[in-house]
Amino acid sequence: MNDEEMKKAIEHYRLLVEKELKQEKTIGGKRLGPRKLIEKTNIDLMDITRPKRPFLGTDATDDLDTIYVTTFRIGSSKNPVSLSKSGYGTDIVAGIELGTNLVKNSLIKSVEDIAPFLAKYKIGILDIFKEEEIENGKKLDLRVYECIECAGLPNIGEPICYFETGMIIGILQELTGKKVSAEEIRCWTSGYSFCQFNVEMKEQGNE
Ligand SMILES: [Zn+2]
Repeated sequence: MNDEEMKKAIEHYRLLVEKELKQEKTIGGKRLGPRKLIEKTNIDLMDITRPKRPFLGTDATDDLDTIYVTTFRIGSSKNPVSLSKSGYGTDIVAGIELGTNLVKNSLIKSVEDIAPFLAKYKIGILDIFKEEEIENGKKLDLRVYECIECAGLPNIGEPICYFETGMIIGILQELTGKKVSAEEIRCWTSGYSFCQFNVEMKEQGNE
C-alpha cells in the first residue's frame, strides 16, 4: 500500500467514522456502534473467517487476504479468551512485548514508521487523527482501519483488540521513553467499522 492508497483509505474511513458516530448509542455506560448487536459473549470460529478489508486486501486476491487474516486469528486462539480479556491480560502484555521489540530491533525507528509498518504487514491502516497537549504530556486519538484482529467481526457489545492496544503502548513507550497508556474505545466488535484508541503519553515519574 503506497502513500496515495493510504491517503485514499483514510479519507474513505474518516467519512464513515463521522457517519457511524452520529448513529452511536450508549447503553449501560457502553458505547455501541450502528451494527446490530449479537447476543453472545465470544467470537465464534466461523466469525473469524470473514474479514472485510477492501483497501488492505487490494494487493492480494480477496481470498488470499481472507486466508492470512484467518491464519492470524486462529493463532490468537492459542490464548484462552478468559485470560486475554482479564484486565491487563496476556494479549496486552504480549502486544507490549512485541511493540517494544519492534523498536529495539529497529523495524520501527520513529513515529512516522508506524503506519507504513502496520500497512506492510497488513495489521491495519493507522490514522493519527488528533494530537493534543495535556498536563505532562500528550493525548492521541488513534484510529485503525481494516484491523487484522477484528475487521468484519460481529458486534458483541465490546472491543476486543487487546493485542493491538498492547502494541501501541509498547511501540510508543519504547520510541518516546514516556509512560504510555492506551484504551480501545470503539471496535468492530462493539458495532463500528473501525477501531479507535485513546492514548496518553506522560513524562515518567509524574503520577
Ligand atoms: Zn478493534
